[in-house]
Amino acid sequence: MADAPPLKPATLAAQALGWTEPSVHAVVPPIHPSAAYTRTSDGRYPGGHSYTRDQNPTYDQVEALLTRLEGGCEALLFGSGMAAATTVFETLAPGAHVVAPAMMYWTLRLWLRDLAARGRIVLDEVPTDDLDALRAAMLPGRTAVVWIETPSNPTGVITDIAAVSEIAHAAGAMVVADGTLATPVLCRPLALGADLVMHSATKQLNGHTDVLAGALITAATGPHWDRIRFERGYRGAVLGPFEAWLLQRGLRTLYLRVAASASGAQRVAEVLAEHPAVAAVFYPGLPDHPGHGIAARQMTGGFGSVVSFRPHGGREAARAVSAALRVFRQASSLGGVESLVEHRASVEGEGTPVPDDLLRLSIGIEDPDDLIADLEYALAKAKR
Ligand code: PLP
Repeated sequence: MADAPPLKPATLAAQALGWTEPSVHAVVPPIHPSAAYTRTSDGRYPGGHSYTRDQNPTYDQVEALLTRLEGGCEALLFGSGMAAATTVFETLAPGAHVVAPAMMYWTLRLWLRDLAARGRIVLDEVPTDDLDALRAAMLPGRTAVVWIETPSNPTGVITDIAAVSEIAHAAGAMVVADGTLATPVLCRPLALGADLVMHSATKQLNGHTDVLAGALITAATGPHWDRIRFERGYRGAVLGPFEAWLLQRGLRTLYLRVAASASGAQRVAEVLAEHPAVAAVFYPGLPDHPGHGIAARQMTGGFGSVVSFRPHGGREAARAVSAALRVFRQASSLGGVESLVEHRASVEGEGTPVPDDLLRLSIGIEDPDDLIADLEYALAKAKR
């Protein structure tokens, strides 16, 4: 008999890899809250786990699923996206050269600047969508990491993962891709040449704004990955088993949620792009977005759930639009089932490269007609 065809990622996610709990044959995997595991009389750990600071079957389930969805070799969960990202840099040799764009998730940008100011790394901020600038910044044999975030939060900059990987690898550097805004549903950076993918699983992977979590997925194991695993285990930079279980549950609907949000975001972006009260829209799904061609090549099924825009009238007008929205809620996250809005400059503060009149929308899974009507109402009200 012919082998069954390999299951599609949406099926793997919906079934959490088809796990069956062995003692009662439950369809849903259990939570393992135990911090410790018993040894046998000869000192072995028959279940393969010793202590929950980095070993728990509830983590194993999520890590196995993320490994499959990203097409990687192994995955590690962390207590937050920032815990995952910072572990990548903390495990580099002292003085390592790092290239990262200024247009990236703002807290990581600030943390990298601080790490560089303390002399732990040498940081070059280079727009990774400018391949000539990237080539010029590489220090062959010294550059350890090229960090990319595509699409970037909040301005939707698109980086060509395959081209950047070629440039970085030629100089002996690894490429780490923050895939938070794309998710493995829309883009799989490892297949395009990246070495590691990082996620804030707080966002669309979980999708319900009720878990803080992060993940790294690697294309290959080796000394740096071993060091990352060691750091996570020794520092205990993990989430708890209850959060890991919630993340596993959220992942089951990932493909439906991402598709719904991306198609809603596309509609919202198209309406905003035509709106007379809007000066600019940042969404890679719009044909005139500078990264649209690359995004169309390296993403499938949509361009993500984050749409940013600048209403006419400057900072105060933007804040008035945000305050007038009634369906979007003003809050500081993205990737949940509920739509959110945020005036980014108020959060990022002085010195941010983000325009001070930019509003970031995170599109959830509501009816897009309601979201569009809400935006039209708020833009009209703020103008009065
Ligand atoms: N990367 C991106 C693109 C993000 O948007 C965020 C959080 O907003 C992070 C990383 C950090 O993730 P966490 O909040 O889970 O630490």
